[in-house]
Amino acid sequence: MAATTPQSIFLKPTSAKAAASSINPSSLAPNTLSTSKPQKPCSIKCAATAHQIQDPIKPTHPLPSEDRVYNFAAGPATLPEDVLLRAQSELYNWRGCGMSVMEMSHRGKEFSSIIQKAESDLRALLEIPDDYAVLFLQGGATTQFAAVPLNLCSPDDPVDYIVTGSWGDKAFKEAQKYCKPNVIWSGKSEKYTKIPSFDDLQQNSDAKYLHICANETIHGVEFKDYPIPKNKGGILIADMSSNFCSKPVDVSKFGIIYAGAQKNVGPSGVTIVIIRKDLLGNAQGITPVMLDYKTHADNSSLYNTPPCYGIYMCGLVFEDLLAQGGLKEVEKKNQKKAEILYQEIDGSDGFFRCPVEKSVRSLMNVPFTLARPELEAEFIKEAAKESMVQLKGHRSVGGMRASIYNAMPLSGVEKLVAFMKDFQARHA
Ligand code: PMP
Repeated sequence: MAATTPQSIFLKPTSAKAAASSINPSSLAPNTLSTSKPQKPCSIKCAATAHQIQDPIKPTHPLPSEDRVYNFAAGPATLPEDVLLRAQSELYNWRGCGMSVMEMSHRGKEFSSIIQKAESDLRALLEIPDDYAVLFLQGGATTQFAAVPLNLCSPDDPVDYIVTGSWGDKAFKEAQKYCKPNVIWSGKSEKYTKIPSFDDLQQNSDAKYLHICANETIHGVEFKDYPIPKNKGGILIADMSSNFCSKPVDVSKFGIIYAGAQKNVGPSGVTIVIIRKDLLGNAQGITPVMLDYKTHADNSSLYNTPPCYGIYMCGLVFEDLLAQGGLKEVEKKNQKKAEILYQEIDGSDGFFRCPVEKSVRSLMNVPFTLARPELEAEFIKEAAKESMVQLKGHRSVGGMRASIYNAMPLSGVEKLVAFMKDFQARHA
């Protein structure tokens, strides 16, 4: 397996894997694109119902095809191969309608069916109650750091933040512009390696909400359970960007869940917000129309042009997750992957180290260091030669980080663990 560029993947003939998959290789885009003259769209007539007869995605999750690397990036991150192949096969002519999803009107019947299916599949996956709206937005989770206080608070309202890592800290700092946030617990002095005991939290009863970052992508700290908000409205808000759809979540415990798509559920450019409907309609007067959740809830995420292609990709991922058996099954796979990696780190006699307290280690982002930091660059370089890329830790913390989101196959983690054993044997 050799590293390759996106272009070379795109232009290569169909792999054996694709041929074996549920996708008909004769319809794959590379065959059309590799000719100098684009072929005309196939003769299938545009049929409003064409999409309904598409075979469902059948996840097989075998070893990745030989021309792909194992990508441990924190986001944008690896996507399921069957989803990429499906998107490839539909890129040029979506389900016989004669155009790509990128070219469709966002108000046409084809795209309507795409966004509606994406929403209903996400609702099924997370068992989202009817009194919650699902919004497909833009601007990344970073935009939500401002949108949340703008929508829920007046400028003088107090709100509570639990800061378990850099992302929670960024959310808190942004909120300072729009309300009066208090950090009621910070893990900074312990280098963000812990989650607080909920009993000891001093929540403010007059706070408008309690905010957490459910999984800190840089520090690898994950809430395994959630604090009960003691504010009057009982509103808990979670940034779930890096563990969204990695396990079942009781949505009814939250006022708002938000997540950038580019880790577990799609490409960058889509931000998903799940909001309890009674929280809509109270935005501060200065709130830009695009940051007012009511704007998007009233218009089914079609107030302006949404990130159509990204939403389509998220829809394919949701379909794939459902076909795997839903989030309970997905969680089991994620637990297995994380377990073998943490076991390797903990069993290395201190050669590898993970600083995070064991009970709150992330299933998604595994940060680790070497007892001999001078070997880290070599570790990363040698791993890349073995087609395991993006293992460098975030620039703010250094070391290594393996992001093992839903789409990272077990074989990728097994290969990493085997490489770690070998690296240790050579350098111990
Ligand atoms: N929150 C978390 C937990 C993240 O991991 C990230 C991105 N890595 C963000 C927020 C910011 O997301 P975006 O880049 O989509 O604005």
